Amino acid sequence: MVEEKIKQLFAKYPSSIYGFTCISYSAYASQYKSALVFAVPYGEQLTISDYTEERFERGIQAAKETVEEILLQIEEILHQQNVKYDIPPVAQNNEEELVAPFSFKYAAVNAGLGWIGKNDVVITEKYGPRVRLSAILIDSPFTYGQRIVQSNCPDSCKKCVEICPCHALHDVKWDIDTLRNDIIDYQLCNLKRSLYIKKYGRKNACGLCMAACPIGINSDRVYSD
Ligand code: SF4
Ligand code: SF4
Repeated sequence: MVEEKIKQLFAKYPSSIYGFTCISYSAYASQYKSALVFAVPYGEQLTISDYTEERFERGIQAAKETVEEILLQIEEILHQQNVKYDIPPVAQNNEEELVAPFSFKYAAVNAGLGWIGKNDVVITEKYGPRVRLSAILIDSPFTYGQRIVQSNCPDSCKKCVEICPCHALHDVKWDIDTLRNDIIDYQLCNLKRSLYIKKYGRKNACGLCMAACPIGINSDRVYSD
């Protein structure tokens, strides 16, 4: 019943990709059986030829609004069905460890939404890395997606690695046992982007390693469900 209602909701957002995963691997396993993970495409699917940081940031914000809209409706469904749930925070607990309490990326891989690219973000077949991820922990079983355990990046591709202005990416092809630190110096990426805060009041969105990615660039370029 809950699964059916969630499917009906996503039918109203055909651009979005979603899936369910068992979270027995997670610290939340004693409280929730599953996670619903979904990916909303950025408002514009920018490539390097049309990239500007401002456009990239606007695309993220547009996707964020759609994510919030979808989350509100999922909450409504779960309230009505009297199912326990929690929306884990997107952001990291603190600026030192930079680790979120529940990894949306790992959940997305487990739900079969995509793999992790050499840029350390989830790569979907349809949009490449140009998506905003969200997840909700739900205390109910679902039909789970097929876990992805290996990268589908082309063997010779390292466009993301080469374009990174601070050389934070280590040219490592992911599999399910790869650790984040093997792929990226996340502290360095975060530090460089944080230098923007003083002048602009927010981190630099950067995302050059996403705009450079060849996966998904044949999709339509503007989204608004
Ligand atoms: S977001 Fe920018 S700085 Fe960070 S890894 Fe990607 S290209 Fe490098
Ligand atoms: S740019 Fe190439 S290596 Fe990097 S994530 Fe995309 S496909 Fe993978």
